[in-house]
Amino acid sequence: MRISLRPLALAGLLSASMALTSSAQEKPNDATMGARPPEGAIVLLDEKGLQGWVQRDGKTPADWPVADGIATVGHGDIQTKQRFGDFKLHLEFNVPYRPEARGQARGNSGVYLGGIYELQVLDSYGLKPRDNDCGAIYTQVVPSVNACKPPLQWQTYDVTFHKAVVDGQGKVVKKARVTVIHNGIKTIDDAEIGPTPGGVGNQPGEDGPILLQDHGNPVQYRNIWIVAGPSRGSGRGAAEGTTAGHR
Ligand code: MG
Repeated sequence: MRISLRPLALAGLLSASMALTSSAQEKPNDATMGARPPEGAIVLLDEKGLQGWVQRDGKTPADWPVADGIATVGHGDIQTKQRFGDFKLHLEFNVPYRPEARGQARGNSGVYLGGIYELQVLDSYGLKPRDNDCGAIYTQVVPSVNACKPPLQWQTYDVTFHKAVVDGQGKVVKKARVTVIHNGIKTIDDAEIGPTPGGVGNQPGEDGPILLQDHGNPVQYRNIWIVAGPSRGSGRGAAEGTTAGHR
């Protein structure tokens, strides 16, 4: 058998340059894959299905197909009935393989934190991170590294969220903050964020739901749970939806 040396040499060069430029970078891993909800956590999706989720209207029960604890995007966005202030969220997702699709059409969904801040879900495997790719706070925060796995593989998000702090007039005195661990790698470290397009319309500083976006692609979710932090008040906020194009 003849072996071409060129691909091997190229691979060697690539790995050498990666070692030089990213010696501190970790590889995407399964450190929190299958993590069980700790004491006091609220389970949002398991084998029992999507209990506690409603559609965008805030009242009609969610009807995404669920089998064996896996929910597949379909029939519109869904949100938790319960609203949260500060929280830690664990979830697992799997983007479909859509080789014919490009950019934002390639396995798009999203996890809205507090109802108004989208953590993007997309097939962004192998891309230079941008502010609308998987792991980004949509159009606001670029992940520090691309921690994506290829499509059709389960991935994890572990998110720590602090809602905005507002004064007596509702003016934001401290923006919401988020830390994202994507496939075991900290890709966003305590970044300040503002609302992104397509949320449910509550105001910064108010508690909000977790919303999962239906962008027309059969993205799958499983093992979602949340640990709510101590409440700092404000359960206010309307559930009326707004819509947007890409998000
Ligand atoms: Mg999206």
